Amino acid sequence: MSDTDRSWDHRLVVLENDWQREHCSGSRGRCLEKAIYGASYSYVTGMCGRTTRRFTTLCEKHAEQFAERHSLIIPQEAME
Ligand SMILES: [Zn+2]
Repeated sequence: MSDTDRSWDHRLVVLENDWQREHCSGSRGRCLEKAIYGASYSYVTGMCGRTTRRFTTLCEKHAEQFAERHSLIIPQEAME
């Protein structure tokens, strides 16, 4: 998780549509939980200083870890 130092503007959202819900990618693809949150952040790629916006899907557990690491508040899942 060393890319934390070079990333910023972390955001956490509840995935709204079922088609967005994929498997969690929080543990380098090894987490088999269903993703219910979307996490995005900007980071620097390589040494040229180019920035990229990254979007990943996270399960509840990994979303909590993401929120804790970046001091975010976990958004509530919409009631249906
Ligand atoms: Zn996960």
